[in-house]
Amino acid sequence: MSEKTFPVSAEFAAQANINKAQFEEMYARSIDDPEGFWDEQANKYVSWFKPWKKTMDWSFDQEDLHINWFTEAKLNVSYNCIDRHLEKRADQVAIIWEGDSPEDTRKITYRELHEEVSKFANVLKARGVEKGDRVSLYLPMIPEAAIAMLACTRIGAIHSIVFGGFSPEALASRINDSDCRVVITADQSMRGGRRVPLKSNADIALEHCPNVHSCIVVKRGGDPIEWTEDRDVWYHEAVDAASADCEPEQMDSEDPLFILYTSGSTGTPKGVQHTTGGYLVQAAMTHEAVFDYKEGDVYWCTADVGWVTGHTYIVYGPLANGATTVMFEGIPTYPDISRFWEVVDKHNVSIFYTAPTAIRSLMGAGNEPVEKTSRKSLRVLGTVGEPINPEAWEWYYNIVGNGKCPIVDTWWQTETGGHMMTPLPGVNDLKPGSAMQPFFGVNPVLLDDEGNEIEGSPAAGNLAIDRPWPAMIRTVFGDHKRFYETYFSMFKGYYFTGDGARRDEDGHYWITGRVDDVLNVSGHRLGTAEIEAALGLHEKVAEAAVVGYPHDLTGQGIYAYVTLMDGEVGTDELKTELVKLVRAEIGPIAKINLIQWSPGLPKTRSGKIMRRILRKIATNEIDSLGDTSTLADPSVVDDLIEHRENS
Ligand code: ATP
Ligand code: MG
Repeated sequence: MSEKTFPVSAEFAAQANINKAQFEEMYARSIDDPEGFWDEQANKYVSWFKPWKKTMDWSFDQEDLHINWFTEAKLNVSYNCIDRHLEKRADQVAIIWEGDSPEDTRKITYRELHEEVSKFANVLKARGVEKGDRVSLYLPMIPEAAIAMLACTRIGAIHSIVFGGFSPEALASRINDSDCRVVITADQSMRGGRRVPLKSNADIALEHCPNVHSCIVVKRGGDPIEWTEDRDVWYHEAVDAASADCEPEQMDSEDPLFILYTSGSTGTPKGVQHTTGGYLVQAAMTHEAVFDYKEGDVYWCTADVGWVTGHTYIVYGPLANGATTVMFEGIPTYPDISRFWEVVDKHNVSIFYTAPTAIRSLMGAGNEPVEKTSRKSLRVLGTVGEPINPEAWEWYYNIVGNGKCPIVDTWWQTETGGHMMTPLPGVNDLKPGSAMQPFFGVNPVLLDDEGNEIEGSPAAGNLAIDRPWPAMIRTVFGDHKRFYETYFSMFKGYYFTGDGARRDEDGHYWITGRVDDVLNVSGHRLGTAEIEAALGLHEKVAEAAVVGYPHDLTGQGIYAYVTLMDGEVGTDELKTELVKLVRAEIGPIAKINLIQWSPGLPKTRSGKIMRRILRKIATNEIDSLGDTSTLADPSVVDDLIEHRENS
């Protein structure tokens, strides 16, 4: 939609890890000679105890569905993220922890990380955790979360992290689905000055989890908690008593590394299973290439470790590269709305990675809270999670980045394990809202509804991938059939992403949202993301979500939920203005039929708008809202139902 481009500066390109010519040569090789290409990358980014026999071995067929990378090779993730760095960077800070309160900061060097991880690995062993066992983590954003993840990988246990904002029910169902016997939690979590009683949530969950025999509790807030003798253990007491000597287990490249449940914006969460070798190669490589990471950078990804972004881009990618990674416990608006930028200045953050939902909400508060900070350390910005509307992109670029930091708009999924499509900061002239081009080794295709590849540009269709990539999902935990059905049954021979995309005249990709969200108005296919971006151009609009509903004349009508900057209810004149704006931006076919003023939108805990609920409200199917357990604030839904527009 936005035709503006933001050229890469000659200065940035000259110092970049990858420039345009290198990109083109490397990309071509990654597609034409994937085995040769990935062999090299695997040797460059990861240290192996034993080399592989075959680089890749795979089939997307129903009978034989399997994906293997670096077969029979041996490695250990915690060894790669810690031990191998000790010779050169033992005293370098590995993790900068920034607590909820600006007074709480902690810096952990690689040497200290090695000691803490080894000790905690021994604690897990002492509680009976063995290679292949699943361990559930229900933790705030504290260093112990990263330590526990790495400790699991050290002994070959498989972690399953459940976001600390989830309810006891959500926790119990995830513990049981993956049969975890050990749970690691904290007494409280602190977010925005508020305390969330994690341990008592876990207590409620564990009433429904008969197989859990150990609950290890980190002391964070210090409030009194209930205690179950024999089952509950204080983290600090157990670690104090443990030895700091723990040999890393030699894991097979295809041994499971972790299970992570998807955010549930389209249905019941799936236990996405990732394995060891391929995942680590892609995590490390993307972290270095996409963020132009270099020695000396301070890197900050604001995600929670409860999401895949936190796994790959707070912990595994950065630590595999020996980086200094920032881990933030709090929220962007506490103690005030400048917090992100204050943290950037405090720690001299040079690479900053966040989500469109955060950018949009901070943009709503204006420029002053940003402009009063320096941000001079920043050099690369990133976004992930949803399509970013050009309006928010430009604000991020001009105001946050002072017009000098390239933005990498990274498209990927829990299932992909790492970045799949993204500009590279030293390569692309950026187009706001476009994920631009595939990463190395990724061959995206656009399919029509019959599964035929649509050649040429411009084009639009279902976004699929025609071959495996190293960090790809290997199965849905305990349900290989669902794995096939969800990703490979729709279009035979392809991994189907569930997203739609278009390819512009220049061959650049734009994610148009989930295909379930594509509207069909009088036979024209319209992406919800495009209409939402057009609404976002109006200065009074903070956020918008668009869904379709059955319409007698046009097949589908367009129903827009609009949140205004002031959070208030707008006038009828404003509705008319918005309808005109969208019409002018996209064309007469994009005629909005109904607008509902929505002070809040239903979002997942990771901040994504749950359009399936909005669809149900628009079509008045209130009694079949489906799984709402992953909603951040369920009360938003009642308000929307009460004020729905009659379709
Ligand atoms: P579920 O699969 O349970 O419905 P989810 O898809 O929201 O949950 P994630 O794996 O966290 O869970 O999100 C991946 C999805 O997020 C992508 O399929 C895409 O729709 C969206 N997405 C992520 N990054 C981008 C981006 N840069 N641009 C556009 N969309 C994005
Ligand atoms: Mg998904």
